[in-house]
Amino acid sequence: MSELLSSIEPTIDFSALGEHKGFLNLPHSIHRSGSHNIPIPVVSFKNGTGPTVLLTAGVHGDEYEGQVTLTKLVKEITPDRVNGQIIIVPMTNFPAAKAGLRTSPIDDLNLNREFPGDPFGTPTRQIAHYVETVLMEMADYAFDIHSGGSSSHYLTTILFQGSKTDENKQAELTKMVEAIGAPYALELPSGGVKGSRASMSAAARQGTIGISAEFGGSGTVTPESLESCEVGVRRYLSHLGVWTPETPPSVAKPGGTEFFNGTIKNLDVHAELSGLFEPVAKLGDRVEIGQTAGFLHHPDTPWQVAEEIKFEATGVVMSKRIPGLVERGDGLFKLGAPVAN
Ligand SMILES: [Zn+2]
Repeated sequence: MSELLSSIEPTIDFSALGEHKGFLNLPHSIHRSGSHNIPIPVVSFKNGTGPTVLLTAGVHGDEYEGQVTLTKLVKEITPDRVNGQIIIVPMTNFPAAKAGLRTSPIDDLNLNREFPGDPFGTPTRQIAHYVETVLMEMADYAFDIHSGGSSSHYLTTILFQGSKTDENKQAELTKMVEAIGAPYALELPSGGVKGSRASMSAAARQGTIGISAEFGGSGTVTPESLESCEVGVRRYLSHLGVWTPETPPSVAKPGGTEFFNGTIKNLDVHAELSGLFEPVAKLGDRVEIGQTAGFLHHPDTPWQVAEEIKFEATGVVMSKRIPGLVERGDGLFKLGAPVAN
């Protein structure tokens, strides 16, 4: 019972029927308050015998589409329409979300690179441990909502880690992704340091079917990105039968969700030098190896030749960097590779 190790104390009883609102209190003793708690908001709706679904946003604090969508849903869901349990955590890395930062200002950590966490670690590691060993452990399904944050903008894309060994799981995942009705879906690697420390792997370790998604970004919320997030979450809940509002129409293109492979090499474009970024490719562009992605300019030495940045794979531009100033190593574009049918 690893959850007994956690210092995080919920103020609500997850086994209770009905609607329960409260906090996951994370003790964080500081100079101003020796007995300070970080109050991570949580809401549980429970009724009937259906599955338990965990909805998280604010794992990255500067991604607002999920935070707004879940905040609106909390006021809309009523337990009488629920069959199962819906647990909502709109500001999962609360200190990061309060600060509007990707990483926590307390320990500078990125929650989506800290799973499975550590009950004796810094606040972000304690949150990761609680989410994985308590919330994911309770859930049959988990949907962790993301976007490009302040540093990038994404096409509306459902992210999933495919299963090469379990055909039933793969079929269930594909059906679920198609039901959400986003224009794009991207399969991500499940192994490696990065993959195994993300929320989808946390779900997998707990036997939970976990997916994630990217809805816009640019450090703000637009009517389009919010609509795609709200539609996606509603269609997801209704696909699982856990909440049955009127199902909104899909925002996918007429042919349905287009699937891409994100597991091959060279899909990411990084800056090899610092400079001022001129993107040439646009979101949704279909690009080839060697095609110009953009340029890095040097207005401080305007006579210096701009560096041409090229794509090193063939695919569709799924995300692009937002800030103009770029340092060496910064991500500029991410591609999805077309999946051969
Ligand atoms: Zn994110």
